[in-house]
Amino acid sequence: MPINHATISTTQDVVRPTLVEVNLSRLRGNFTAIKKAVAPAKVMPVLKANAYGHGLVRVAQFMQELGADAIGVAVLEEGLLLREAGITIPILVLGGVLGNQIPHFINHDLTITASSITKLQNIEWAAKALGRIAKVHLKIDTGMERIGVHYYSAEGFLRTALDCQNVQVEGIYTHFANADAADLRHARLQLQRFQEVLSFYRRHGVERPPLVHAANSGAVLQLPESYFNMVRPGILLYGIYPSDAVRRSIAVKSALTWKSRVVYFKVITPGHPVGYGSRWQTQAATRAVTVPVGYGDGYFRSMSGRAQVIIRGAKYPVIGAISMDQIVVNIGDDSAYNDDEVLLIGETEGASITVEDLAAWAGTIPYEILTNINTRVPRVYSE
Ligand SMILES: *Cc1c(COP(=O)(O)O)cnc(C)c1O
Repeated sequence: MPINHATISTTQDVVRPTLVEVNLSRLRGNFTAIKKAVAPAKVMPVLKANAYGHGLVRVAQFMQELGADAIGVAVLEEGLLLREAGITIPILVLGGVLGNQIPHFINHDLTITASSITKLQNIEWAAKALGRIAKVHLKIDTGMERIGVHYYSAEGFLRTALDCQNVQVEGIYTHFANADAADLRHARLQLQRFQEVLSFYRRHGVERPPLVHAANSGAVLQLPESYFNMVRPGILLYGIYPSDAVRRSIAVKSALTWKSRVVYFKVITPGHPVGYGSRWQTQAATRAVTVPVGYGDGYFRSMSGRAQVIIRGAKYPVIGAISMDQIVVNIGDDSAYNDDEVLLIGETEGASITVEDLAAWAGTIPYEILTNINTRVPRVYSE
């Protein structure tokens, strides 16, 4: 039977034992909790990087069904994929745009982030040449120094936008650098700068763009003053808090389980090292199982020596270096059999392993764990 990744990741009848299971009821619960907390502001779920590993197309379809007002993605190709999949709600591409990409945005009704006067003019000319109207959101840099027009020189940008004829300015936004911190001084300073930029419209008696937004997950949790009339939660939607420091003012639950199965059992006799580099060696006879997952799936090699998995309700350590496609688990004197379920991220009655645990073992943040679960790991969806 010929197998390719596209087919195994779209069928529910998955053959690969290593898979990600996304609980749609939990996604719905998280979306609803956020929507309720920020009402009457609109919600733009952020679905970049394969919907934080949860599967871009299926999550987008689900968000559209749930009544999301728009979708945010990072790059043009993510937006194109969603349009091909039949998503009809507005899609804002949050990243910077290059000249040759502009016609693709316009032809597929994707909303462009205009992040400089030059880029705005390029959008205007491209739209004029096509005889179309381009939809844009203006991006103001209030303290992130990534993309956007600096708050202290935004007037010329806003004036230019007012003069455009083939550009429809649907929104204006900024992005916080520290909204997930315990100390919110920098976030408040950014908010104040953004409000000063917005005062341009009142001062000149011209209409403000209809959508004004700033809040990422951290701000959704901690800065209600920043909701304006739309928010852009990413990680919170998936049930993960953006940092340990953040106030957990909205209850959400992780929607993702990462599982595999025991594919091999053996007893390792004393003095026999395990894995590449022989980094770990048995002292006594050790019962061990092999599990078909590795750094090629996004199970980071840097977790070697720290990672644990759950088998039959108990936690066991991963031993030796994590390989590209396989790990070895020390089950001590316990028993496990071929086909037994192995939880890499998930919970059972007695034990749980969280995205935060993997992030700590790998020395990174939950975002990086989620977005690195490779596309060769099929995604399945449960209610
Ligand atoms: C990624 C991103 C978000 C969502 O961030 P979270 O911390 O996951 O909520 C919102 N806005 C922009 C511009 C982003 O790049």
